Amino acid sequence: MKDFDYIIIGGGCAGLSLAYELDAKNKLKDKTLAIIETRGDYKRDKTWSFWKVMDHNFEDCVIKSWDNFSVNTETGHHEIQNKDYPYQTIDSGLFYEKILKRISLNKNIKFYKNTESLNIENSIIFNSIPPKSNSELNLWQHFKGVEIKTEKNIFDDEIFNLMDFNCDQRKNVHFFYTLPFAKNKALIETTWLSKLNNNTLNDYDTQLQDYIKNILKIKNYEVKYKEQGAIPLFFPKSEKKNNTINIGSAGGMTRLSTGYTFLNIQDHSRYIVNQIENIKKAKIYDIGKKYKFLDKIFLKVLNRYPEKMPNIFFNMFQAPSRSVIKFLSNKSNILDDLTVILKMPKWLFIKNIF
Ligand SMILES: Cc1cc2nc3c(=O)[nH]c(=O)nc-3n(C[C@H](O)[C@H](O)[C@H](O)COP(=O)(O)OP(=O)(O)OC[C@H]3O[C@@H](n4cnc5c(N)ncnc54)[C@H](O)[C@@H]3O)c2cc1C
Repeated sequence: MKDFDYIIIGGGCAGLSLAYELDAKNKLKDKTLAIIETRGDYKRDKTWSFWKVMDHNFEDCVIKSWDNFSVNTETGHHEIQNKDYPYQTIDSGLFYEKILKRISLNKNIKFYKNTESLNIENSIIFNSIPPKSNSELNLWQHFKGVEIKTEKNIFDDEIFNLMDFNCDQRKNVHFFYTLPFAKNKALIETTWLSKLNNNTLNDYDTQLQDYIKNILKIKNYEVKYKEQGAIPLFFPKSEKKNNTINIGSAGGMTRLSTGYTFLNIQDHSRYIVNQIENIKKAKIYDIGKKYKFLDKIFLKVLNRYPEKMPNIFFNMFQAPSRSVIKFLSNKSNILDDLTVILKMPKWLFIKNIF
């Protein structure tokens, strides 16, 4: 049996971000790390986007950055500009490549497919595998995206569309999301917020084809890449173990009202590495009680009144962009919070506190 000081279970976004940070901060000079990962090879499987409200290690994996975005409903179109917090997109293929290249140079880091040959009793374990559980009460953000290349230059690549609610809602919350990487290349996603209990919402390909043809008015295009996923809009209930720290989605790093997780994972990795010498005694990191409280009410409203959500989102973006972006990226101060909250239907939210 082999012994390691640290074991990371799941070499995905959180596991590799942590391994990178440990290596970059020289914490693995005299310590050993095993990464347990089942996948055979690493290739692009996700496209991570976020408002850049803080520095991170993966600027060289950013494929596009925007200062402008839009939100649409059936009746409104709103364009928002913010140069202080650009919206960035990271290609997961570049992210994996960068990290794997770096950590392969450190002989104290080893990959395994499982923990069978390891003595895990004395290690500190960082776990990114959520328990398999679902309940009919839980909401998910589920989606499929296609990256298309068009014959002609049709996209305005200076502005991306965060949410287009002008589409079939089917008694849930549904929007399209378009990231134009170039004038002839964009990732287009159909996104649902639902309890994942209605298979009729899963005709993603038809939804995407209709949107591309009838709304974006694109006839000739090639699909270059596809991604699909379901982000839990609830915190997984992982078993508490003395030597285990949960990270990534399993560690509650998802902002429940938005699904944004990537930058929280980076913050969490830094926190762990800063405390690594004393990590077993360190306070469990979380994204903030304030956001957990507000998101809980937000999701209750979403659950009860899905038909109101397009306008709620639309109105929220009427607040000053700096405040909304900081609020959605959990970096807001009390003034930002108030600015955003005042754009919400107050009585509806107050009624749903209880
Ligand atoms: C398609 C997609 C797009 C997303 N886009 C965004 C975005 O734009 N912005 C954002 O902020 N968030 C986004 N998210 C949410 C979140 O950032 C990602 O899900 C992120 O990958 C979460 O990181 P993680 O490490 O928790 O999980 P993962 O990255 O999924 O890593 C888990 C790893 O564990 C491995 N594994 C699974 N089972 C085992 C096992 N039994 N033993 C060992 N290894 C195992 C998997 O192969 C995987 O490598 C997206 C999610 C998806 C699915």
